Amino acid sequence: KKMVYAFAEGNAKMKALLGGKGANLAEMTRSGLPVPPGFTITTEACHAFFQSSNRIPDHLMEQIQLDLHRLEEDTNQKFGDSSCPLLVSVRSGSVSSMPGMMDTILNLGLNDDTVKGLAALTGNERFAYDCYRRLIQMFGNVVLGIESFRFEILLHKMMKNSGAGQDQEVTVEGWRSLIEDYKRCVKTNAGREFPQDVHEQLKLAIEAVFKSWNNHRAQIYRKIHHIPDAQGTAVNIQSMVFGNKGDDCGTGVVFTRNPSTGDGELFGEYLVNAQGEDVVSGVRTPQSIETLKDVMPNIYDQLVQVCKKLEQHYRDMQDIEFTVENGKLYVLQTRSGKRNAQAALKLAVEFVKEGVISREDALLRIEAFHLDQLLHRGIDESKDLEVLATGLPASPGAAIGVAVFDADTAADWSRAGKQVILVRPETTPEDIHGVLVSEGVLTSRGGMTSHAAVVARGMGKPCVCGCESVRIDVEGRRMFAGERVIEEGDWITLDGASGRVIMGTVPLREAAMTTELREILEWADDIRKLRVYANADNPEDANTARGFGAEGIGLCRTEHMFFAPERLAAMQRMIMAETVDERKAALDQLLPMQQSDFEGIFHAMDGLPVTIRLLDPPLHEFLPNTAELQRKLEDAESTAEKALLKRMIRKVHELHESNPMLGQRGCRLGIVYPEIYDMQIEAIFKAASACMDKGISVLPEIMIPLVGHAAELQRLRELVDRAAEQEFPADKKRDCKYKVGTMIEVPRAALTARQIAAHADFFSFGTNDLTQMTFGYSRDDAEGKFLTHYMDQKVLPHNPFQVLDSEGVGQLIELAVAAGRSLKPTLKTGLCGEHGGEKMSIAFCHETGLDYVSCSPYRIPLARIAAAQAAI
Ligand code: PEP
Ligand code: MG
Repeated sequence: KKMVYAFAEGNAKMKALLGGKGANLAEMTRSGLPVPPGFTITTEACHAFFQSSNRIPDHLMEQIQLDLHRLEEDTNQKFGDSSCPLLVSVRSGSVSSMPGMMDTILNLGLNDDTVKGLAALTGNERFAYDCYRRLIQMFGNVVLGIESFRFEILLHKMMKNSGAGQDQEVTVEGWRSLIEDYKRCVKTNAGREFPQDVHEQLKLAIEAVFKSWNNHRAQIYRKIHHIPDAQGTAVNIQSMVFGNKGDDCGTGVVFTRNPSTGDGELFGEYLVNAQGEDVVSGVRTPQSIETLKDVMPNIYDQLVQVCKKLEQHYRDMQDIEFTVENGKLYVLQTRSGKRNAQAALKLAVEFVKEGVISREDALLRIEAFHLDQLLHRGIDESKDLEVLATGLPASPGAAIGVAVFDADTAADWSRAGKQVILVRPETTPEDIHGVLVSEGVLTSRGGMTSHAAVVARGMGKPCVCGCESVRIDVEGRRMFAGERVIEEGDWITLDGASGRVIMGTVPLREAAMTTELREILEWADDIRKLRVYANADNPEDANTARGFGAEGIGLCRTEHMFFAPERLAAMQRMIMAETVDERKAALDQLLPMQQSDFEGIFHAMDGLPVTIRLLDPPLHEFLPNTAELQRKLEDAESTAEKALLKRMIRKVHELHESNPMLGQRGCRLGIVYPEIYDMQIEAIFKAASACMDKGISVLPEIMIPLVGHAAELQRLRELVDRAAEQEFPADKKRDCKYKVGTMIEVPRAALTARQIAAHADFFSFGTNDLTQMTFGYSRDDAEGKFLTHYMDQKVLPHNPFQVLDSEGVGQLIELAVAAGRSLKPTLKTGLCGEHGGEKMSIAFCHETGLDYVSCSPYRIPLARIAAAQAAI
């Protein structure tokens, strides 16, 4: 089986086999771009390697040798030859982009002998020995597993002794002596010599790249980005070109358009006289690409052409790595550029306008979760800010948190419930678990294209990097900015959009819609079939939701209206009532409060349906806990107060249940205490009536929670219909087109949906409870206890409280929809659990033919786009 392909043999469609990088190198080679020749070892070879217990099978090694030989012919060089040595890079290349997560080795093929050849050939001894020491360092680290700091220490010692301030000032003798130090370092720490046999170097390097597929940070990255473990990585072997041969050399990274704003200009960084690793690792702070115009005008012009060509070819913004070797430009890699939400939307709209892609393509390119980022907060500029320093604006959004100086502390503190900002001199891919839990990331070194900045952007986290004016003392766990010292645990604010680091916490402003987002949302609305409603409990949220394009309210949780202090007191009086009359008196106080909220919501949703759910949670949730009451009792002074507190404690005991989520809640409350529901229904109709008097078009939909048996709904529906008759005398009744429906959130309701549909105008799937009760997982405890283990051990593919379990819970939904419609073909159906704002779950709702999904206001744009994506 063919497991090795020369670049000239592949193409962009072979991504699954050649990996993203390999397929793109092949495609570029085909289209005549200046790509240094090489070959790709396939992902199938990677599987073969793992199957042979991490050994390269003999037949694979033979194919590699053959292609290596061809490469020697192509380049007129010879691997391991002392006069004209071929040097190669060995790089990972997974199918899905995983920037910086796996390993790379450069300058492979150098040894004590070939280094002399390279020196003679280039007439640059200093350069040759610099390459050689880099190889030993990378090889030692990546292949032999020696920590990089061991090499760094030796490097700094040598530079100090020889009085060199910067890499470029080191002499040949300096590098030579460092090479001897490095070799000793390898011997002591790896227990073996650095291999002088170049074929052994190659074999070990390939093995190391395959193995890096399973390193810790790659595994975490795959988990975050839902990349299957079974994909495996390809390995690219490419002949080296050198950006570190002198001042007519250089290396850099360029995006064909700005990945932060989507603006049309080239965006990137480069370093003169350097190798690729220097740019991305953040060891030296690179120059912005515009300055290349003056430094190497010819190369800049060529680069502009290459960018145009590649962008047109791939019909997308590209992220390109290039090297200049003695005045000649080489393209080492291209891939679709990572971008933040703002840029993603702008680019999508621009590409449609330029006729490069269709509207559907544009919509499919919007990563729904990236909209979170666009709808991110920013700094409220009207307030005075103490700006500590300004770095590079690597990823937009504002973040507030306490400073922590390493990833492990970030993880620990975040677990303890703190909001943290990860502050590091430079972030490396090993910090990924810290980045994941942080509100934002600050670094003092490294450019906009450093790997960690790319990762932060991908996660939509605010990030400021290359902030050179702060000095970070990791050991001392503090940071110096001008006169200020920020200790670990001090509050700081980051503005990822401007690069500012601000002292303390500052007020933020909420995110707003951009014109591009509006445009794309309109395209989405034309395409989608699902309607998008909002979960909103008060007039303010209802207004926000409408602003985001909500087409109605799918869930108003009325209990949320009772939590304001003055309302809670009335609610508690209602619960404490000993007689029906007492309870009614308390309910009379609550009625106008609910009514005014309903009026506000109806007003905000003029002309659109408003689904109001009657009281759902168990009553004890409205009473303080016993410990708190006991404390108050001890402090109480008057006897009346004491008596009241004692009654409360008794009531709390009375209401205590072993399984409150399976207890006296939802419609069960409504059946036992009909006066509560009576009050709520009356408030709804009074509000409707008042709004109609003002000319507002009101469409109330009254929703009964936790129904499991048709008889429950039947009784409660009677309550509603009776109240409607009272509120709307015969002539007015026709005007208020109310509906009565139920949540389907108990498995029995789904199973008996046909019987239930007899009394329902609509079904709304409460997938939070439905998931809880179908799996038998407590929605309040499961995540903290076993669900994370389940995810880690891959017992479950997703957290079922986030991504709808289409196989199990989904089956109940399909069944209920079919059964309900078999009785009432026009039965309205929707989903209002947390899943209503999640892309895969929305796709399920579309497939199942629901009428709507309902989600929190800020997720509405996302839901509109996800619904369109599902329909394409
Ligand atoms: C549900 O159970 O999915 C639901 C929407 O209701 P709640 O979250 O209020 O229980
Ligand atoms: Mg529920």
